Parts: sequence; structure tokens; C-alpha cells
Amino acid sequence: MISDIPALPAPVGAGVYNVYTGAEIGSASGSTIPTAAQLGLEPPRFCAECGRRMIVQVRPDGWHAKCSRHGEVDSHDLEMQR
Ligand SMILES: [Zn+2]
Repeated sequence: MISDIPALPAPVGAGVYNVYTGAEIGSASGSTIPTAAQLGLEPPRFCAECGRRMIVQVRPDGWHAKCSRHGEVDSHDLEMQR
């Protein structure tokens, strides 16, 4: 289904919840799965795997997001996959 997209860390890549709205993917409001490129522009707010609100720190050069269950994601990790 998303075979052309490189694997993302679970908190942004699981595709269960929309990382910007927290809405369940597949519901009317949650159908957009972010790509690494989109994540480079705007930090995720919710964990894609469990829908929890993540702790997000925005830096001048990127962002860092942490789910208490599924771990941390840094925008630098995503950049390495491009
Ligand atoms: Zn999570």
C-alpha cells in the first residue's frame, strides 16, 4: 500500500492515526498519511501508532517528538532516509 515510501519510525510511520490531527486513518478526517517530506516541514503532534499526543520540541533546524509508549523521532532521522 505504501511500498514506495521508505519505512518511517513507528510514531510517524505506523499509519494508524494521523500524526497532525490524531484522527484514525480511514476515517473521513484522517485519511492523509504524511511522507518524510511533509514531516520535514511540519512536526507531528500525535503518535501514528497509538494516537497519543506526543511531546514535541521544535528547533531552528528541525524537530524532536516523543511518544511515551513508542519512543522518539527526530527530523534528522527522517532526513537520512532521503
Ligand atoms: Zn505511540
